[in-house]
Amino acid sequence: METKLCDIQNLNSEEALRGLEQAGEILRSGGLVGFPTETVYGLGANAFDAEAVAAIFAAKGRPGDNPLIVHVASLQQARELVEFTPLAEKLAECYWPGPLTMVLDSRGLVPASVSAGLSTLAVRFPSHPGALAMLRAAERPIAAPSANLSGRPSPTLAGHVLEDLQGRIPLILDGGPVEIGLESTVVDARGEYPILLRPGKVTQDALKLLCGDCPAAGQADCARPASPGMKYRHYAPQGQLFLVKNWREAEALRHSLLQEEAPQPLLLLSEESSRELQRRGVPETQIISLGSEEEPADFAHNLFAALREADHRGAGYIIGQSIPAIGLGAAVMNRYTKAASKK
Ligand code: AMP
Ligand code: MG
Repeated sequence: METKLCDIQNLNSEEALRGLEQAGEILRSGGLVGFPTETVYGLGANAFDAEAVAAIFAAKGRPGDNPLIVHVASLQQARELVEFTPLAEKLAECYWPGPLTMVLDSRGLVPASVSAGLSTLAVRFPSHPGALAMLRAAERPIAAPSANLSGRPSPTLAGHVLEDLQGRIPLILDGGPVEIGLESTVVDARGEYPILLRPGKVTQDALKLLCGDCPAAGQADCARPASPGMKYRHYAPQGQLFLVKNWREAEALRHSLLQEEAPQPLLLLSEESSRELQRRGVPETQIISLGSEEEPADFAHNLFAALREADHRGAGYIIGQSIPAIGLGAAVMNRYTKAASKK
């Protein structure tokens, strides 16, 4: 199968209009489309079509017990799929359209495979204009996980989707680089307050402030099980990633690796640390900057692309600088730590 790339950065261009029309046709007839959202690129299929949904799991090599998020183009469409609670109303009012996914009781309209047999369903109303245009062209809810091969870093550019899924899907809509760079925040919104299943741009602190409480699943005071997908090894580069706190630790680890005659490690550093280590003689070519230490949004935006770049460069060892797990930094460190976990 040939994979076509279609530029939709200018939604009114002829190319975009044609691409969106084609995406609608493909989705309605059971095919798969890669598309941009404000979080990461998604791999979409008609959520009502069990065969199309099975094709998502096959194309990604995704385990069948890892449920999908259903994307909608309106609140009304979400209400048809799941039972809204007062909490869900409040969260939707505050954060939709946007990077928040809510897990609610399913009304049973989508095949069980979408939610891996669970009685709940995850729904999200994205804000990306290209994603919304595609959802409207499809005229139905679209089940869509991130558009990477299972286990690989999520795609933040159309080129990343092509890298992983070329020949497996007919069309990728290219909306340019995504804004956030990490997947959506996922909460269970069935109870009185949200339970955090996956950290993201909508932070635990913001949810606590809005709702009174927001425990993380799996914490001692939270009886609900964590989200199925979070148990898998994720986001991983091919080389071994070590996390360090600052440039001093990065330099020390680099030194000890080189003493063992290991190949040159690649360093993922803050801008500040990058400057410091270059001053100390580390070649610029061995460093990728993730942005300012003060800006977790920079790290969020650049992390997955840097992990993919490490693979392109064939880096056997990668030394990654952490940031404090505060605010959006918590979501960054959640992904970074998983990427560093042993195979
Ligand atoms: P992805 O779309 O690849 O970013 O993954 C979707 C995430 O949402 C995974 O971590 C899933 O475990 C989670 N998820 C989807 N549906 C449900 C659900 N019904 N209950 C709990 N977590 C869910
Ligand atoms: Mg994913």
